[in-house]
Amino acid sequence: MKSINETNFNGKKVLVRVDYNVPLNDQFEVTDTTRIERTIKTVNKITGDGGVAILMSHLGRPKGEPNEKFSLQHIIGKCSEILGKPVAFLGDVTDKETEAKINKLKAGEIGLLENLRFHKEEEAGDVEFAKAIARLGDTYVNDAFGTAHREHASTATIAQFFKGNCFAGYLLYEEAMNLEKVLSEPTEPFLAIIGGSKVSSKLDIINNLLTKVDTLIVAGGMSYTFLHAMGVNIGNSIYEPDMVETARGIIRKAHLRGVDIFCPIDNICADKFSEDADIYVTTQNHIPDGWEGMDIGPRTIRKFASIIKGAKTILWNGPVGVFEMDKFGKGTQSIALCVAVATMAGAFSLIGGGDSIAAINKYNLQNFVSYISTGGGAMLEYLEGKELPGIKALNVYEK
Ligand code: AMP
Repeated sequence: MKSINETNFNGKKVLVRVDYNVPLNDQFEVTDTTRIERTIKTVNKITGDGGVAILMSHLGRPKGEPNEKFSLQHIIGKCSEILGKPVAFLGDVTDKETEAKINKLKAGEIGLLENLRFHKEEEAGDVEFAKAIARLGDTYVNDAFGTAHREHASTATIAQFFKGNCFAGYLLYEEAMNLEKVLSEPTEPFLAIIGGSKVSSKLDIINNLLTKVDTLIVAGGMSYTFLHAMGVNIGNSIYEPDMVETARGIIRKAHLRGVDIFCPIDNICADKFSEDADIYVTTQNHIPDGWEGMDIGPRTIRKFASIIKGAKTILWNGPVGVFEMDKFGKGTQSIALCVAVATMAGAFSLIGGGDSIAAINKYNLQNFVSYISTGGGAMLEYLEGKELPGIKALNVYEK
C-alpha cells in the first residue's frame, strides 16, 4: 500500500472514501464525532497540498435506496466544524449537477457526496457504479479502515480505475501498519489476551494467534467453556456447549505449538447477573451450582499481572469480566493497568474491539497504551489473518 505521504495532491480532485457512519440522535445530530475527527489529517494533507477533497461515505443501512433519514446532509455542519472549513454538499453520485458542483470547488476546498448506500450497486461492488464514482475525481484515497473488510464499489472495486494513482489515507495506513506490526514482527515474548463473552466469535482469531504468540490468556465469559472442557465445575457461568470440543482442540494445539495458554484460576461469582447480586469469591477453579463467574479473582489477577509484566508485545481484545457493572470490573481494570505499566516499561500494546476500548476509556488509560484500533469488524478480520478487500485493492492497483 502506498501512503498519501508519497504523493502531492496539488491541482487534483481527490476522491476520499471515509467512514462517516456516525451515530445520530432523533434530531439527526451527530452524537459521536470520533470518525470524522480521525480523518482530519488526511483531509488536511489533501487540501494543504492544494487539492480538492471529495469525501464519500455510507451512513446507516438504507438498503440500496434513497432515504432522507440516512442522508449525509445531516452531518455537513458537524463536518465543517471539525474539518475547520465549509464542506459543500455535492449531492448524489448519479445526479447531473454533481459534476458541476465539484468543478466549482477551488484548490483547498472540501465537498461531501450523498450516502453511497442509496444505491444497491455500492454494496454489490458493482463495476459500473464504481466507474460512475471514479469519473468524479482523478486520484483515489481510501481512509475508511472500518469498512476495509467490505468488497464494495467505493472501498475496493473503484481502485481499478486509479492504477498507480490510489493511496491509503493516514487512518487506514496507521491501522493496518499497527496491526501488521503486532502480527508479523512482534518483539517477543508476544502475549495475546482474549476475553469477551463467546468462544465462537473469537475462534478464528484464536486459531490465527496460536501460530504467532508465545503466550495466550483466555479470560472473560469465554473462559468458562475452556474450564468446562478441562473438567472444572462452572456452575451457572456462561458457556457454549457446542464449543467444548473446539476449546479442547485449542488447548491441544497450544501445547503442541509450545504456546503457553492460561485461563483464570479463581473467580468472582454472583448469584444473579446483576449489580446488586451477592458475591462469592472462589479459592480455586470450582464454581458451586447456583453461582456464575462474572470476573477473574485476586489470584488470577496476580498471575496475569506477572505474565503481562514479562511481555514485550501485547494484544488485548475483550474484557475479562462483566466490567460494565463496577462490582465485576476489578479484573478488567487490573488488566488495563498492567498493560499500561508494561507499555511504560517498553512493551508495544495494541488494544482493539468496542468493549476493550470502552474499558480502557472507563479507567482513563487510553493515553498509556501504544495503539487503540477502532476498526471494529475490519480489525477482527485482520486479526483472523484475512486479507481485507479494501487493502488488497490498493495493493493490486498501486503501480
Ligand atoms: P465480546 O463482544 O465477545 O468481546 O464480549 C464482551 C462482553 O463480554 C462484555 O459485555 C462483557 O460484559 C461480557 N463478559 C465478560 N466476562 C463475562 C462473564 N464472565 N460472564 C458474562 N459475560 C461476560
